[in-house]
Amino acid sequence: MKKIFFAIFAAIIFLNSSAFAEEKIFVDNFILWTDKRDELIDEYTLKHYGKICREIIPQAVVVHWTAFGTLESNWKYFYAEEMPDDEGRLNVASQFIVDRDGTIWRLMPETKFARHIIGYNHCAIGIENVGGYDGREDLTEAQLAANVRLIKYLHEKYPTIKYVFGHYQQGKARASGLFIENVPGYYAIKTDPGPKFMRGLREQLESDGLIFFEE
Ligand SMILES: [Zn+2]
Repeated sequence: MKKIFFAIFAAIIFLNSSAFAEEKIFVDNFILWTDKRDELIDEYTLKHYGKICREIIPQAVVVHWTAFGTLESNWKYFYAEEMPDDEGRLNVASQFIVDRDGTIWRLMPETKFARHIIGYNHCAIGIENVGGYDGREDLTEAQLAANVRLIKYLHEKYPTIKYVFGHYQQGKARASGLFIENVPGYYAIKTDPGPKFMRGLREQLESDGLIFFEE
């Protein structure tokens, strides 16, 4: 009898531990975060979204390419709280960055505010991909697979996420109703991460109920 109890007990422990062990798909390498970044975020979000927004409720995932550098050099760039060439303004950042071999670094807690796309930062998690040099669609198969894994993880964790789009699809994504920008004329034309990569993501993620936009 004792043996049976022990076996059941052991089975419960095993099932619990496997059910709660979160699959480790990324490494944490957080960027600098002092009161200064919070102050700059307050200023940015008040100006552009009409509200203070240090935390987001994720409703979209926006995919990018870095266009230059390595994983490390991009991390160094995002590390600073102020824009290197425009001190006193919030630096750009994203919640995740994916290296060319598919290694994923998380740069901050997922629901923290990051400045990565005009009009959607208040509700979008950003994924940067190292590549897109000279505007070429050179992101790798390993990056595609890593983005699929990461977006599946995020969608499961935050069922509020409904949309996935590339930075270059910012115009079409206005159909989501999520776009907010209070500063007239504040806009930048983008090509990242290219239609080929977005097609790849769409093929593997649309069946999960995520909404994509025309390439
Ligand atoms: Zn971008």
